[in-house]
Amino acid sequence: MKNYFEEDSLDSIRGDIREEDEPPGFATDEVPDETESSVALINSKHSIESIAPTSLKFLETWFPGTSIKEWNKWQWQVRNSITNSKELSRLIGRKSHSDFTTENNDVLPLRITPYYASLIWETPQDHPLRKTVVPSLAEMITGPGEFTDPLHEEDDSPIPNLVHRYPDRVLFLATGFCSTYCRYCTRTHMVSQKDKCHTGIKDWEEAFKYIAAHPEVRDVLVSGGDPLTLPDAQIEYLLTRLREIPHVEIIRIGTKVPVVLPMRITPQLVSILRKFHPLYISIHFTHASELTMETTQACERLANAGIPLGSQTVLLAGVNDTTEAMKTLMQGLLKTRVRPYYLYQCDPIPGSAHFRTPVSKGIEIIRSLRGFTTGYAVPQYVIDAPGGGGKIPLLPEYLKGKEGNDLLLENFEGKTYKYPDVIGDLQ
Ligand code: SF4
Repeated sequence: MKNYFEEDSLDSIRGDIREEDEPPGFATDEVPDETESSVALINSKHSIESIAPTSLKFLETWFPGTSIKEWNKWQWQVRNSITNSKELSRLIGRKSHSDFTTENNDVLPLRITPYYASLIWETPQDHPLRKTVVPSLAEMITGPGEFTDPLHEEDDSPIPNLVHRYPDRVLFLATGFCSTYCRYCTRTHMVSQKDKCHTGIKDWEEAFKYIAAHPEVRDVLVSGGDPLTLPDAQIEYLLTRLREIPHVEIIRIGTKVPVVLPMRITPQLVSILRKFHPLYISIHFTHASELTMETTQACERLANAGIPLGSQTVLLAGVNDTTEAMKTLMQGLLKTRVRPYYLYQCDPIPGSAHFRTPVSKGIEIIRSLRGFTTGYAVPQYVIDAPGGGGKIPLLPEYLKGKEGNDLLLENFEGKTYKYPDVIGDLQ
């Protein structure tokens, strides 16, 4: 049996990923060994499969001398992530202090993988993806109704980093580290905070014991932070321990890794994940610009391993709050074999006012999708109720009233239809 405890500490919490933590990353079989000129590589069959032209240009500009093979190692991406304002200024340009700030670093640090930075570096200042990862001055202003831990997850934690809110399932916060921090993250109260999250895999023991002692728990959602930033051996250990608990029927993983660090979805990782079916993965997508060649390939690997993929999207002002943006994303997800699952109203964390839309905007978007595109492309719009109330679905009003025994129903075109709401005498 593997000694999973050899590397007990969750190194990734420090971003201190070492080369030997994993076999070399993304498709070693697809990446040439030698450090050739990338101009030559772009013309080769291998390079077209392994790096997109935008990333190649970014790599050549900001990391000259780094090979495509290095770029495609997830450990290299984590080690070389943008974590301070000097690097960010260099990469995306900064004309004035108001462009961005890292003053909120104690609450939620700046961290962007070079891969994700390559998607935003040449975009205009108001590009949707920039807004999601570049810290703005607006984060410094706490508005009415905004709270740290608005979902009261800590109140529903019988033991640290395990949330038991719903009767038959638990949320297992396996790590506090993410390779890229989203500026609207609902878990800013714990992500990146070393004193608020697991720092070693021995810390998971209490969670395993709790789940084993609660036979009603049939579903474990492993999240964080981002659990797919853990080394392979730790992911395998975590899933093995959960699978050993007889009443755990399904395991789900919540992650943004395929979007911000797609090279992490190595064949080796996939071969581990596929051993733990039924296993579901929910991927955090924000905008259709994230559906790149690399992310598509990562999703394809997971889907080919028989892992059902769903998406989770937060409705964000100026990012995806139009019918066009949402429809393009949802239809793109279906093409990528990811089933749109939840559309979340943005949680009121401190400094989130600039991200939040009125709820009527979300309902309007759902109304503009239902009937106008494939039903699979319509996510469930929910508010995760502040105070720990759980997810509450929000729908446009299609039931307009009653006429005698008939229900009056409005269809997607605004036409009214009647449905006889009576059960006839079958005898
Ligand atoms: S990936 Fe998820 S947990 Fe990590 S910062 Fe983004 S929203 Fe938060």
